[in-house]
Amino acid sequence: MPVYSHSQLSMYEDCPLKYKLRYRDDIKRDIEGIDGFLGSRVHETLQKCYDDLRFTKLNSLNDLLAYYNKIWQENWHDSIIITRQELTQEHYRALGEKLIETYYKRYSPFDTDITIGTELSFNFSLDDDDKYRLRGIIDRLSRTQDDVYEIHDYKTSKNLPGQQEADKDKQLGLYQIGVQKRWPDVKSIKLIWHYLAFDTELVSYRTPEAISSLVQDTKDLIDEIESAQDFPPKESWLCDWCEYPDLCPRRKHFLKVEALPVNEYLNEPGVTLVNKYVTLRNEKTKIEGEMEKVREAMFDYARKEEVEVIKGSDCKALVKFGEKLKFPGKNDAERPELDDIVKGAGKWDEVSQLDTTSLVRVVENSLWSKDLIDKVMKYGRIEETDSIHISKLKEEK
Ligand code: SF4
Repeated sequence: MPVYSHSQLSMYEDCPLKYKLRYRDDIKRDIEGIDGFLGSRVHETLQKCYDDLRFTKLNSLNDLLAYYNKIWQENWHDSIIITRQELTQEHYRALGEKLIETYYKRYSPFDTDITIGTELSFNFSLDDDDKYRLRGIIDRLSRTQDDVYEIHDYKTSKNLPGQQEADKDKQLGLYQIGVQKRWPDVKSIKLIWHYLAFDTELVSYRTPEAISSLVQDTKDLIDEIESAQDFPPKESWLCDWCEYPDLCPRRKHFLKVEALPVNEYLNEPGVTLVNKYVTLRNEKTKIEGEMEKVREAMFDYARKEEVEVIKGSDCKALVKFGEKLKFPGKNDAERPELDDIVKGAGKWDEVSQLDTTSLVRVVENSLWSKDLIDKVMKYGRIEETDSIHISKLKEEK
């Protein structure tokens, strides 16, 4: 069975297509985002800090910054992407220095705990049959004088999540399971995220119930990945950092036309079609608005003149005033009361029907047993539901 990492699992949740390209098709790309590059160099510098301490060597801040700048130069390559055009390599390098300095000033001389390991690799199973294997790397694992094991994670991101998000974070929760598997006698584990840009820590403890539910959720996710046949693209803000825009149906047209000069861009068949479609759709919206106004005016006219048919030049219009009985919808507040009345009268079967929309959801998300889904699927049929959805681009071209 494959061994999964947290980043692999979360990539599937973020975008199944990207997961497939990376892990099933094994397509490697050598491009790297500047944020990831910066994070790696900061991690390596803090690793050196703690590794040297284990040999009693306390580096000065200047020693660490010199090391950071050295590995920055050694590892820099031309395929690193900086998406924010107003920023340069130098801005990011300086930011890394600032993050290291902040951490150093907060924790120096780094003697409040004993480091058990840095960049510590874990490979463990969530079950006794070895069906659900996971691997991970803990930035730093330490033990305090009170015998509390601390799992440290360095964050160089520009966003500070809330406590609730930290309490739900799966990555360190899974690492906690790895630590408990390796050292079953461990009594207390503290999860700590060091948000360097904010000079702050987020701390979380997991209850046995939270760990059990994380284990179950992770097993379910692995089952889903193992049995997945479709890997649809899922667009999000992460697309800007995706290595596969040329293989993604949501992005490859962008890539194709953005490289064209303006005159060719505007004549590209896809661009022309979308522009025409949007122009027509806008006209249709305007016409529909005008038609609604004329319709209302025709009703007013018919009421005032007490006529049911209005004569035009070539056509006539039959105007009908009617009423329609309506009951509360499925989500209306009064609906449960109405349901109870009908059920109480023993008439439920006469008026209730199978909710086929809910049935589609159940089948698509495999919420029933495979056996039952196979049975109902004998009555299901796939119909084409082609559609076009127009939305605004982030920046006008
Ligand atoms: S560009 Fe976005 S939608 Fe396409 S594969 Fe990458 S992450 Fe998924």
